[in-house]
Parts: sequence; C-alpha cells; structure tokens
Amino acid sequence: MKYFLSILVTLLSNITFSEYVDASPGDCAPSEGPVLQVLGSGGPIADDGRASTAYLVWIDGKSRFLVDAGGGIFLRFGEAGARFEDLDHIAISHFHTDHSTDLVALLKSGYFSRRINPLSISGPAAGGDYPGLNEYLKRLLSPDSGAYAYLDGYLDGSDGLVMLETGEINTHLQEKSTVYSDPTGDIDILALGVPHGPVPTLAYRIHIGQKSIVFAGDQNGNSRAFIDFARGADILVMHMPVPENIGGAGRKLHAPPSIIGNIAAETAAGTLVLSHFMARSLYNMEENLKVIRSRYNGSLVIVNDLDCIIL
Ligand SMILES: [Zn+2]
Repeated sequence: MKYFLSILVTLLSNITFSEYVDASPGDCAPSEGPVLQVLGSGGPIADDGRASTAYLVWIDGKSRFLVDAGGGIFLRFGEAGARFEDLDHIAISHFHTDHSTDLVALLKSGYFSRRINPLSISGPAAGGDYPGLNEYLKRLLSPDSGAYAYLDGYLDGSDGLVMLETGEINTHLQEKSTVYSDPTGDIDILALGVPHGPVPTLAYRIHIGQKSIVFAGDQNGNSRAFIDFARGADILVMHMPVPENIGGAGRKLHAPPSIIGNIAAETAAGTLVLSHFMARSLYNMEENLKVIRSRYNGSLVIVNDLDCIIL
C-alpha cells in the first residue's frame, strides 16, 4: 500500500520528495534543525495497519514535542528513538481514544527515564461528555480513585515521578492561546479550539524560529478562526478519515477532501500533510486526491507511521 500511494501522489501532484524521508525506525533525528515525525497515521478502528494519532517534533536531535498520544504510538515512540527525558511539552488535541489512550503508557515508561524536570502538558477544557485535561489525569492517576493510582506521583511530583504542569484551554474561545514558550524565545506553541462535533478539540501551531507546523486536529473544517490560525504554515497536517461523500455524524466530525483542499489553498500551506486515515478514506485514495487537487496545487504528502518531514 505504501508503494502504491507514493506512485499515485507522484502522478497526481508536483510533490517534491527531496523534503520527505520515507524513514526506517530511528532515522529521523538529524543533528540540526526541526523535523516532523509521524508516530501514528491511523484512526480509531484497527483496520488500517497503522497506529492511531501522534506526531513528534525533533529539534537538533532531541524529541522535544509530542502532539497527541493515540493507541499504538507507545511502540512507535520507542521505535523512533524518542526519549521521555527530552520532551518539553505534550499537546493533546482531544479525548477520543485514538488521540489519548497511550499517554498513561508513556508516563509509566517515563518512570524509568532519567528525567528530573516537570513536564508541561496541554489539552482541552471539559465539555459535554468529555472531561477536561485535569479531570482526565485525575481519573487516571488520583491516589484515591485513579485507575493507575500507582502513578499518582505525576500529579504532585512525589514518588520519584516528575510533576505534570497542566494547561487547559477553553475550546470555545475563538482566539489563540500560548501553551508553551521556550526560554530562548525562539519556540512557542499556540492552541485554538476547532469544531469536532460535540468533542472539545484543539488545533496546535508550533513556531520554531521562522518555521511553523500546524496540526489541524480532528475537525470538520467549518471554522474561519482556524483559517487565520493556520495561515502561512510551512507544514499543515490535516486529517482525512472520511471520503468525499460522507454524510451524517461523520461530516459533523470531519472535513471531507474538498474542505481539506480549500483550507490548504486558503491558508497557503507550504506542504499539506495528509494523515489520520481509516480504511474508508484509504479505499478510494485516487478519487480523494483528485478532489483535493482540484482546489490545492501545492506540495502534498501522504504519510505512514514513522515517516519524517524535514522543515
Ligand atoms: Zn476525534
């Protein structure tokens, strides 16, 4: 499938493969500069041969930022050669399982690391049936009632665990919030609420010097505020779990290819990265790409787990 898709994209686009590394595990940490690595490019159904969603941002050979932690990415994190002690921030987009279930597994793994500094983590505030970040962590780690109470030291920095410094973002705000700033002033991470049905969900934008990566998160593409938020990014990561003819609940949750193409064009994305596939969107990839290409003619890559894109 991977080979097939690569050929297909070559035929349908002006893709420049020089900026794209179809990587083997551990290949994505060059000594200088930022690199985006896909840890998981799949969705919530175990039918796509992929880990669920997560992305890693490497800077100067260090795994600095993790965006989402869906099922299966615990394995990919290790395969990528990432180190828990090198993480400076974890950004969770929302609390669907395919974006969050491996977080606690990574935290347990972190117990065995040499990390001593607190770890900052951001996520959405509560809404509807969904907990906010603080409640989510409490339900997992609380010493009284947490399912993994043996890791409660992450809540207060006790038991040899590092404290999680949490930042909850109100997803109804139509303004961006800063969730992380590097002490050098060169790097920051911004968050903005995006429409994903009833699920409080965040998009993230990471600035690294003059470079920027936008993670659109799961969303239906109906937010004008997101267009401004994403404008001019070097890399725009968009999720394509549904085909063009999707309706009903799927359309309320996700953007079909036509909307993805419109957003990539309107925001003038440097490179559009398509990810978060499900069998139903992989099934007719040629047609999906034609729809996107009728609206957006810039650089485009379809990613697999562990692939890297050098900024
Ligand atoms: Zn979702």
